[in-house]
Amino acid sequence: MTTTLGFHLLRIGHCSHPECVTQRGGCLRSVPFPALAGLLLHPRLGPMLFDTGYSDAFFAATQPFPERLYRLVTPVSLTSTEALPAQLARHALAPHDIRHVFLSHLHADHIAGIGELPNARFFAMREEVAAMRRASRIGGLRRGYLRTLLPASFDTRLTCADDCERVVLPRAMHPFTHGFDLLGDASVIGVPLLGHTPGQLGILFRTAGARSIFLVADACWSLEAVRDDKPPSWIASRLFSDKRAFLATFAGLRHLLSSNDALSIVPSHCELTWRHLGREFH
Ligand SMILES: [Zn+2]
Repeated sequence: MTTTLGFHLLRIGHCSHPECVTQRGGCLRSVPFPALAGLLLHPRLGPMLFDTGYSDAFFAATQPFPERLYRLVTPVSLTSTEALPAQLARHALAPHDIRHVFLSHLHADHIAGIGELPNARFFAMREEVAAMRRASRIGGLRRGYLRTLLPASFDTRLTCADDCERVVLPRAMHPFTHGFDLLGDASVIGVPLLGHTPGQLGILFRTAGARSIFLVADACWSLEAVRDDKPPSWIASRLFSDKRAFLATFAGLRHLLSSNDALSIVPSHCELTWRHLGREFH
């Protein structure tokens, strides 16, 4: 991994959940659940995104019933300054400048903005796309998928991450052993993070400051939960595709967190991560 990337952490809206749902032993108090995304600046291939957070398309997709239940259960807030186009503009970029988007998984809070990116290629795990395609309207909604968020051209613009060259991860990433060289230059390595959905993908890359960043999406919902070994409650984990695989991935992150000081683990919904890393990578 010799190519280093610029990195900005973006907060693109948030929803609210009772803490006891997101974390075992939590209280009933409603806590913010930020939707974080990553803006990566590749020296040769330009600006790229890891997920997109919320967008106006989310509100349109959840206008009719039964999809409206989604936002009734998890009330969403997105200000105009948080919207993806406004945040790209702060970096002198426009949505049409984005050519590569790495999708951790296809839950609505991670992909709602992809329709705003007319020139992007999308990277996702094959099984994740297949699971969304297989699901019925109601079944998909129950799993957090809103199929209307996918642009009509999605399939022709999709690269299955697992079709990219398989690479062995360095020992310091143990117990995560392998990944996929998504761009063919070892700059962005996709790492399967199983359990939350049928094909969740994290990405690993190095920043210009020689820091390694591991964007882990929903493999955990907060770093405190990993540190304190408090996985999500049984209510939330009932929504996961494979609870046992989720707990194995969660335990793997717990090991990494304690064994690899040079690595910044970035969950998509961690308020503490946003407060710390959001300031450093604004
Ligand atoms: Zn998710």
